[in-house]
Amino acid sequence: MSDYSCNLPKVGMSLIINNLMSIFEQYNMEENYKSIILSTSSQPNSKPHLGTYVNLCCSFILASKLKQKYENKNITIEFDSLENSLYYVDKDDELSENVRMYKYILSFLSTKYNVLYTFRSFDEFRNIDIIKRNLSYYLINKDEIDKVINPEQYSTIRAFCPKCKEKIENITDINNLSKNRLEITFECEEHGIFTLQLCDDQLNKLDFSAQLRDIFKGLMSDYLEKKDQLLIMVDGRDWSNEWDHYIHLKGKKLFLHDRVTPRIFTPLILDSYGGKLSKSLYLNPEFRYKGIECNFENIETIEQIYGKKSLNIISDEIESWINDSTKFYRDYTVNYLHKKLKGEII
Ligand SMILES: [Zn+2]
Repeated sequence: MSDYSCNLPKVGMSLIINNLMSIFEQYNMEENYKSIILSTSSQPNSKPHLGTYVNLCCSFILASKLKQKYENKNITIEFDSLENSLYYVDKDDELSENVRMYKYILSFLSTKYNVLYTFRSFDEFRNIDIIKRNLSYYLINKDEIDKVINPEQYSTIRAFCPKCKEKIENITDINNLSKNRLEITFECEEHGIFTLQLCDDQLNKLDFSAQLRDIFKGLMSDYLEKKDQLLIMVDGRDWSNEWDHYIHLKGKKLFLHDRVTPRIFTPLILDSYGGKLSKSLYLNPEFRYKGIECNFENIETIEQIYGKKSLNIISDEIESWINDSTKFYRDYTVNYLHKKLKGEII
């Protein structure tokens, strides 16, 4: 079979750019920044799957292209591991095995593309001063901010019940006791209410939702801008469109930040039905994917089936997406990459 993607139509961004690097011209990187960070993240609730690998490849390949263009800049990847959302992982040894596989992939890409990376746990992320400060601001202004970032009033803040140690989402009251001291009341269904009195510097006892994590990363990008560092968020394309417009940017405005966060959204890997290949669905014993030709459960399985060359085959393919905007501004089915691995598409 020939490569059917060689005559892709120009749509959206690819109508106005051929080379993805052109997007970054507006930042005048040569003049304005001493370092550039491409920041991405994933939940280690399983070993990394194909979609995660695609996102990581895009991050490293973009970083390597930036390095070629701006030779005197310090350009790195910042990887955030989101252990706070570990559905279906209840054993520490399973988590450390998943993290080991993440580091294996990060190390492979770091060597191949000659780009250094940092690996940050969620605990380290929420311990950063700017995150705690903005979490405090959110808690004080929660009702107003939730109208924009949480329209259906899901939980955004969680804490552990002191008795059963379960993560509790139900907040019944927030009191601003003094300038930097908050009192938050939670209700555990089994053990009733418990209250946390927290100074700003203790807010790392709380877990927070995807909206807040996403907005906080954007606020951190604004903070680093003042230190001549450009932080570019790199996420899968499911974080684009309405999410970026209504949640991220409008959310940032409520934190009194007007700057548009530099972001790149990477192609999605779709299942046979057109939905995003989902780690959570893979792991849900009641679902299990059907209709996918081979066992694409994670990168380790793919390496077992197709050998050590698999990581190179996929990353080389993704390099061609980065080099051609018509290939980058689209999504791909898992079956397409499967055919690539089998050598059925050249
Ligand atoms: Zn409890």
